[in-house]
Formats: sequence, structure tokens, C-alpha cells
Amino acid sequence: MSFLSLENVLKTFNKTEVVKKLTLEIQKGELMSFLGPSGCGKTTTLNMIAGFLDVDGGKIKVDGKPVHLTPPNKREMGMVFQNYALFPHMTVFNNVAYGLKLRKVGKSELNKRVLEALEMVRLSGYEKRYPKELSGGQQQRVSLARALVIKPKVLLLDEPLSNLDAKLRQEMREEIVDIQKKVGITTIFVTHDQEEALAISDRIAVMYEGRIEQVDTPAEIYNHPKTDFVSQFIGEVNQIQGKVLEIYEDNKCKMHFFGHEQIVSVNSKKNSEVDFFIRPEKIQISLVDPSDRNAGFPTKVERKMFLGAKTRYILKAQDKQLVADISNTVLNPNQIHEGNNVFAIWNPEDLLPSRKVR
Ligand code: ATP
Repeated sequence: MSFLSLENVLKTFNKTEVVKKLTLEIQKGELMSFLGPSGCGKTTTLNMIAGFLDVDGGKIKVDGKPVHLTPPNKREMGMVFQNYALFPHMTVFNNVAYGLKLRKVGKSELNKRVLEALEMVRLSGYEKRYPKELSGGQQQRVSLARALVIKPKVLLLDEPLSNLDAKLRQEMREEIVDIQKKVGITTIFVTHDQEEALAISDRIAVMYEGRIEQVDTPAEIYNHPKTDFVSQFIGEVNQIQGKVLEIYEDNKCKMHFFGHEQIVSVNSKKNSEVDFFIRPEKIQISLVDPSDRNAGFPTKVERKMFLGAKTRYILKAQDKQLVADISNTVLNPNQIHEGNNVFAIWNPEDLLPSRKVR
């Protein structure tokens, strides 16, 4: 059974449904990210789980018990906000101790737990400092210690790293995962940063316009997106169009792309047009026509961009632009020049068919 569940959770603002009957199950100890563009309803959903917003329909359960009518301070959830939300006039110690004092925890137990929580976030020795005497990363660690010290059942993180610079963000996200796994706490991490979600999550719920488009592991989301939105939102994709020339058994079709043919697995009808997505790193290039004539599509190199470990080639195939990212250990970029005619090669299994029907 799941530890945290949302059943048809609904939220309406000014007659507009911003969270549309959302259903989701999160396992005990799991780190689930809510990922989606601005305005898709991530924070609203998190605030309903925390109890800062009432649900307009549906149920939220923790450990099998409904909590959606329980006041926030009784839900046993720890929350970390983007802007840290520390009390500026309190020391680090008192910020972390706040929730324990509210719960009337005795002095020696309180002392022990605050010091343990600060040690966990590597801030031992900072007890007497005030928030303004700390860096952004340190303030966020205090905020994490404050959330965890009450031993909540669920940890809710709302864009906790957005105010930090890129390098610190990466360090902090690793630290958060380490702590989350050590404590074994069921966690929801809200972010609009796909790389962050892919890096840290056990599973990701991709949200769009108040709905969940797909819930899966990072690798499944990336390799097997179930909707066009997920294909385009996660990672980068080229969109190419093909025409179905022949239908074979087992959903195999002979497709026509850029003047060449390829056998592809797709469920379609003869003569229909099908859009496909293909990731830039799934396209290879060759100066010579590959021996399997079905596999190479004639293109011209319009631009070449050296990106360190890989090179990005902008190709023109008829009037269509294709982006190919190729590791410099696989292809020496000095062999290819702008203006070269090259063959673009891809494995038909790497084509992700669009769900749009024409
Ligand atoms: P972001 O990444 O920008 O924080 P989000 O995915 O967290 O976006 P929400 O903040 O949940 O999105 O907002 C979802 C929708 O609900 C948006 O269209 C927003 O304008 C609207 N909304 C949120 N809070 C309120 C409110 N208190 N009153 C009216 N509309 C609101």
C-alpha cells in the first residue's frame, strides 16, 4: 500500500480548475518530484498536501488515514520553501528548535535533537549565528534541519534550490538526497528544472495544466515518454514528419523521411503522416553513405558547436533542421566542417511516435 496518496484531488481558483482531479500514490521512503512548467499546479498541490490550502474535492491520505481535513500543524509534515522562510530575529538554534518548542518537547531532548539535526546538515558550530550571517546554501540547510527535527512523516520541498547558484545547487541536491535516504523519509520535491528532477528522484510526476501526464522513474520518463508534452518537456527533441508507405505485420510500417525510406514500429494507416520525436544524442553522422541504405539520410552541416565533451551539429535535411549531439570520443569534430554533406543515421527504435493523429 502507498504511504501518501492523493485521490481525485481538486482545486479551483476563481472558477478555474488549477488542479484537476489529481490521483497519485507515493511509497514510503520514496523521493517523488513534481516537475512541470510554471503555473501547472505544483505548488498548489503541495500546499494542499501540507494543509496550507483546502482541497475543493478528493482525499489526501497518509499511512491510510485521511488528512485533508486536518489542520497543517497536526499533519506531521515538514516543509522547506524556496526563500528559506527562517525567522530573522532568531538564532540558528532557535530557528531549528521552534517546532519542538511548539510541541512542548523537554529541554534536554530538545537540545539533543537540535544538535543532531544541525550535524546532519553539516552546520554544527553555527548555533548562535543569525540567518543574515549565513550564505544562501547554509540558510537552506537550516531550513531543512528545522523541517526534519520534528521527525515528520512527510517532507515537502518547494523549489528549495532555486535561489542558489548553479554549482551550489548541484552540491545541495546531492546533500538533500543523501539526507533523505539516510532518514528514509517520504519526500515530495517540487521543481521546474528537469535536470534536477532527473538527477534526484526515485520517480517523477510530470505535470501540465493541473494534470499528471506521466509518473515514472527518470529513465522511463526520458526513454519512454507517454505523451507529446513529456517528450518535448523532458530533454531536447527533434520533431520529424514521415509518411506511411506500407503497412506490415506487428505494427511495422515502411516510412518515408527526407526522400529515404525506413521500417519503423508505429501503429498507423497507409498514406497517413506521422510525427516523430528523436533526441539529438540519438542521431549519428557519417561522411560516407552507410552500407544499409535505409539508415542514412542525406543532410548538410549548417553549424557546428564545440560543447566540451560533445559537439552539436545543426543539420539541414531538405528544408528541415535537425540537431545532432555527438560525443567527441565517438566522432572527432575536426573531421566534419560546416557545409559538408553528411548522412544522418538513427536507429528506428529511437524514434518516439507522436500521439497526435493527422
Ligand atoms: P511555479 O513553478 O511558477 O511556482 P506552479 O506549477 O507551482 O508554478 P501554482 O503556483 O500551483 O503553479 O499555480 C497554478 C495556477 O493557479 C496558476 O495559474 C496560478 O496563477 C493559479 N493560482 C495559484 N494560487 C492562486 C490564488 N491564490 N488565487 C488565484 N489563482 C491562483
